[in-house]
Amino acid sequence: MNRKRSVILSAVLLAIISLSLGCATISWHCPKAAAPPKPLTDITICIDPGHGATTRTDSFRVGPTGEREEWINLRVGKYLKKYLVQAGANVLMTRETDTDVNLAGRAALAVNNHADFFISLHHNGTRHDPDVNFPLIYFWGEAPKNPASVDLARSILPHLVENLELQDAAGTGIYSDWVIYPRGTSVLRNTYPHIPGIIGEPAYFTNPAAELQLKNRTYNKLEAEAYYEGILEYVRNGLPKTTLVTPTGDERLGASNPALIFQLTDGLGGTAFQPETIQVFVDDHAVEHIYDPSTGHLTVRPEFSGKTKLTIQVFGRNLKGNALHPRILTVKTEAAYGDPVEKEWRTRFDKAEALCQEAANEIARGGLAPGLLKEAIANYQRSLDVSPHHPFSDQAQYHIGECYEVLPRTSENLEATFKAYKRVVNFYPSSPLGPAAENAITRLESWAEMAEAGLLDTYTW
Ligand SMILES: [Zn+2]
Repeated sequence: MNRKRSVILSAVLLAIISLSLGCATISWHCPKAAAPPKPLTDITICIDPGHGATTRTDSFRVGPTGEREEWINLRVGKYLKKYLVQAGANVLMTRETDTDVNLAGRAALAVNNHADFFISLHHNGTRHDPDVNFPLIYFWGEAPKNPASVDLARSILPHLVENLELQDAAGTGIYSDWVIYPRGTSVLRNTYPHIPGIIGEPAYFTNPAAELQLKNRTYNKLEAEAYYEGILEYVRNGLPKTTLVTPTGDERLGASNPALIFQLTDGLGGTAFQPETIQVFVDDHAVEHIYDPSTGHLTVRPEFSGKTKLTIQVFGRNLKGNALHPRILTVKTEAAYGDPVEKEWRTRFDKAEALCQEAANEIARGGLAPGLLKEAIANYQRSLDVSPHHPFSDQAQYHIGECYEVLPRTSENLEATFKAYKRVVNFYPSSPLGPAAENAITRLESWAEMAEAGLLDTYTW
């Protein structure tokens, strides 16, 4: 045996010995083989089992032997949740018991929690023909304007057909919900501006044979599995996303800031899109764009003279064919400053800010400035009276809290301080000032406790 070979051999032997020894003796220190990443890690899915708690009020959504649609929806939803969670998904359920949840609340749960997509679980019924039974999936609006929802539906439908053995059912398909309601369904209409969404109607509970199957837990599981398999297929092709980089927050489109810049990601770890599929619509008109596939930056210089705001949608497909959801983005222009509401808001807010600054200077000089602070509070309040939905409303509200907090601590002022900070937390849940307002509340609570226990001399400082 030459030397080189023996060195290699002994190294290999040593490795084997140390590995086996190590694992036999101190097995709890041996890392297990790294688990493969779960396929739905970092994906948030909102599952909406339709209806709920309508036994007394709804005599339509019930099969010939009394099985209620809302019960079937819920069973399938719970099985589906289980499969999705096992695959690493974060699952939001609009309901997990036989309770009613209003339609706006269902969409809001998905949107407010930034779900990647929304799936409403239903089953169909008809008074006209007890033999009818076929699967269908609804999306909102017009297919070319809602491509990601259609992609999701296309991934799921074949699995429903296969698992529920409905291969020969006439009517099977993907449909716009505008075919049943002029403005579509509430849940899909309200999720559309933000995320893709579908309503699945895999079978008819008014068909006696189908009702029997739908009562069966094994059949419910097969249906949940069909959704699960379809979701896996959809997610495997990547979930492309659009983020507006500029202008954001209170920035305006204007002469000095004329470009919209988006960051596109393809959902597959990169920024590659089929170039011919990228389209940008401003106020429903296609506009020219420049896409840089190396950075994912999409730049648009829209015409905006005379407009106070623009509505923008970005379309495109990644290399696996999955579409961007064209969520509706609104951008204000400089002209919005001339908008009477905006002007009034700004005037009040800017005045309040100036008064605060003056008060801060006064306090720095050793004064108390209660007059200036009260005037500042009144102006912040007036800006909120003009519009509580302004992008800076949370700031106005937070600054009211700050002003009250430095006023003499009468019980009245203390109560007003609490109220102002609590409004930031309760009314503006996406405000970046939320944590600061919560800290202020905690700080004031302990202060108030100490004051009440007589540990502080006086309510004023
Ligand atoms: Zn239904």
